[in-house]
Amino acid sequence: MLPFVRPDLAHFTAYQPHPGDSSSAPQTVDRLDTNENPYDLPDALKQKLNGAGQTLESNRYPDGTHADLKAAIAEYVNESAVLEAAITPDQISVGNGSDELIRSLLIATCVAGAGSILVAKPTFSMYGILAQTLGVPVLSVDRCLSTFEVDLAAAARCLAQGCVRAVFMVHPNSPTGNPLTMAELDWLRSLPDQVLVVIDEAYFEFSQTTVVGELRQRSNWVVLRTFSKAFRLAAHRVGYAIAHPELAAVLEKVRLPYNLPAMTQAAAAIALAHRQELLTIVPMLLAEREKLTQGLEACPVLQVYPSAANFLFVRLNEAIREQGSSDAALEKLFTALRSRGSLVRKISGGLRITVGSPAENLRTLSRLQEILPTLL
Ligand SMILES: *Cc1c(COP(=O)(O)O)cnc(C)c1O
Repeated sequence: MLPFVRPDLAHFTAYQPHPGDSSSAPQTVDRLDTNENPYDLPDALKQKLNGAGQTLESNRYPDGTHADLKAAIAEYVNESAVLEAAITPDQISVGNGSDELIRSLLIATCVAGAGSILVAKPTFSMYGILAQTLGVPVLSVDRCLSTFEVDLAAAARCLAQGCVRAVFMVHPNSPTGNPLTMAELDWLRSLPDQVLVVIDEAYFEFSQTTVVGELRQRSNWVVLRTFSKAFRLAAHRVGYAIAHPELAAVLEKVRLPYNLPAMTQAAAAIALAHRQELLTIVPMLLAEREKLTQGLEACPVLQVYPSAANFLFVRLNEAIREQGSSDAALEKLFTALRSRGSLVRKISGGLRITVGSPAENLRTLSRLQEILPTLL
């Protein structure tokens, strides 16, 4: 370890984009492990983006205010919910992926010993990872093992300790796919103003459930969204936060001045201008999710959980889990799927399978059907 580096970083490993992937995987892989959209941009939009690349001045810094993009995002957000008062561009802050916004929120609330964050596991790993790289303590509570509802009594006990400055919730949660319940939302509403409530709506376009309508009343709430999933722009890295104007202004203060490359801004602008066309894929993916659910449910060894997002969480069934050999069986299943060409995510004692194209889903189901009889 280099002597000038913070000792607490010694225990860290760099983020692995495809954990468990290896060169032994076949050439063509169905990549169902990162919840991306299986479809690239249509050719016409690619050409538009290439055109934008041709005319942009590479020698100049990009627009560091994101003014046009924020206006376009505000328009889209307003369309996406019934709102008493329209969301305005000063309520938006744009990040290099919503990962950047998560880090900015941590910087704005917790660093330098200012406080801890609370998460409910299993959940999106980046909250904890980013917090730890900033030296921010992470408190975590469990979820119910069958419904994945948050243990609210335990959460309340954490809050009572007084050090929690930010609570992070995904709506619907990853990897488990469940949206926040009424009871969870009521608990979040009951939190005092000194606690920031982050509601990560990365999968909003699939769930169509949003809390954006409550932001006006709640200056301590922020909604995060991304272009990486439904909008097919994972390669370009764009996310945004919607919040009270004062909180959005704080996010602007702590971000890097030119956090969004010009091509990224162009890509987001083009995607928003063509959102109707791009989002036609959503109902199709939801229908595929239904088919994939049915296919997985037909395997008695698997337990499939309901999902409001573009992925499914499955575990080996309870009988197998009670026998105690399910970890090894799960690993075997994951590895066998990968070696046949389906890359999924092994996580939290189960598999998270992204809903892919119809062909990818069919191939993955038939690989599963091949593997499962050999598993136990
Ligand atoms: C995919 C995902 C994001 C998106 O991250 P980007 O940095 O915008 O690509 C954020 N939160 C959750 C819960 C996600 O699953």
